[in-house]
Amino acid sequence: MWVLIIHGLITALVVVSFLCGQWPVFEGTPIERIHRFLTFGAYDYFLRFVGFVCGEKGTNAILSVEYFCCDRPNPILQIIYLAIIGGTYYFIAKSCFSYIPGYYLSGIHRYTSLLGVGVGILLFLLTSFTDAGTVNAENVSQYLSAYPYDNIIFTDKECSTCKIPKPARSKHCGICGRCVARFDHHCGWMNNCIGERNTRYFLAFLLWHFLLCLYGTIAIGLVLAGRLKELRVVYILTVYYGIENSFYSLAPHVVQWLLGSYNTQILLMVFLAIVSLLLAGFFGYHANLCRTNTTTNETFKWQDYINWRRKLNEARASAAALKSSISGMSSESKLPESKWKAFFRRSPLEDAEVVVKNNVYDKGMFHNIWEVIYPLSTRRSFSQRKSKST
Ligand SMILES: [Zn+2]
Ligand SMILES: [Zn+2]
Repeated sequence: MWVLIIHGLITALVVVSFLCGQWPVFEGTPIERIHRFLTFGAYDYFLRFVGFVCGEKGTNAILSVEYFCCDRPNPILQIIYLAIIGGTYYFIAKSCFSYIPGYYLSGIHRYTSLLGVGVGILLFLLTSFTDAGTVNAENVSQYLSAYPYDNIIFTDKECSTCKIPKPARSKHCGICGRCVARFDHHCGWMNNCIGERNTRYFLAFLLWHFLLCLYGTIAIGLVLAGRLKELRVVYILTVYYGIENSFYSLAPHVVQWLLGSYNTQILLMVFLAIVSLLLAGFFGYHANLCRTNTTTNETFKWQDYINWRRKLNEARASAAALKSSISGMSSESKLPESKWKAFFRRSPLEDAEVVVKNNVYDKGMFHNIWEVIYPLSTRRSFSQRKSKST
């Protein structure tokens, strides 16, 4: 039993470190170090090892595989997603369907689970194969008038690859080789950019898969609870084995019995629970971006802008403080400041003005959500913009 618990904990640690290790919350923790090892360190050691064994040819081969897998559009992660969802459904069907209908679950869950997976795959295909909002020479003038520059993080610029003006909120995706409107990020799992036109499907995909994993976790839990009830485990434990009929004395025996008889189902349940937690976090993050009409790309841009402004303000404030202290030293009449006063005096850096994020695209929660569900470029007003601007 302890082996299983430790196995589960290590799996959870590795998965969380790999997926979320770069989050600011984990800065300086072992989780961040494991993340760095998994994403960069281990690969670096592997490259050096290949270089040592096979020479430069081996290293070059690995680098070209890396280039194909990470920097070119390819369906590897799409296939992995389909394998994960198909494999998980197969194992659940194989290990749990014989107990459905059971004490707590009716027979309908055999069909609703299949329907749930079907809708999940449909949302995956929609996100993967819908145009993310490609900006090209034909539609760039419409996009330029639909997305005005804020002159803070987006200014009038040209895409050096596509040779067209870059509308505000768009970005050139190096992997797809095109400019994408309201660019969020390039998603390897979808082999597509997440942009103006498919953010809605992407959000639906995250929410649906979160609910699907939660449904799976609860359903397997109910299957196991049903088995407990049907096999009268509690009755046998209390009457035949003389164990006291209380939660604390029964729980370890029940858990031991479950782990012994239904370890596949428990492993599946733990896996689904961990994935549903991760998906909940990811959906929450993106739902909040949607609520404030920001993209992942813009979050980075705002971070850079705020850091730059803060440094600039601090430099200005400390220059002003230096200037005043020099003029203070030269004027003899000034009384020497007491040590305590000097100690409690505010640092000149604290006087620097606070930099605030002024997102001009945030037009209120309902408006923002509506803009994601019904993108500007799909509206009738979008196609009429061209005649106005030309
Ligand atoms: Zn471009
Ligand atoms: Zn892309």
